[in-house]
Amino acid sequence: MPTPIGHALAGVAVAGAGRGLSIPPRHVAILALCAAAPDLDLALRLFDGVNHHRGASHSLAAALIVGFAAFLLRKTGFDLPSAASMAAAWASHVLLDYLGLDTSPPSGEMALWPFSTGFYASPVPIFYDIPRSFSIGAIRHNLLAVTIEVVVLAPVAFLCWSRRTARTE
Ligand SMILES: [Zn+2]
Repeated sequence: MPTPIGHALAGVAVAGAGRGLSIPPRHVAILALCAAAPDLDLALRLFDGVNHHRGASHSLAAALIVGFAAFLLRKTGFDLPSAASMAAAWASHVLLDYLGLDTSPPSGEMALWPFSTGFYASPVPIFYDIPRSFSIGAIRHNLLAVTIEVVVLAPVAFLCWSRRTARTE
């Protein structure tokens, strides 16, 4: 599963892909945070000792809920395109985790919750898993994982922003 760096890059790409939006830096930061936010489910373990990681927060339905919640807050500055961008940024997390190697059971994520509680993972992962260890081998592994994420996702973000710049000229 990708690191927060990879997820944030995907959020930046979503910000660049938005059509007709005026995107102040604050919105780019919000979308980068939205793209990384599903992993906050790791903190739920602190409350009940149960692993909730890659559960409902890692579903496309959660992305729709986030977009709808943002739309309900439209009086605070989130218009429909902003809400849709937030949903897309959240959904980018679901996509990237689907494309990530997951070696801890249950492998994958509940991408189709609430319609299915099955865990889904790509049969051909693109991104590495991230061991939560500080051994030299784990650090080396994680550096390689981040490098792959940047090599794959930075060009996507760059292309999204290049096309955006071309549209606004
Ligand atoms: Zn995740």
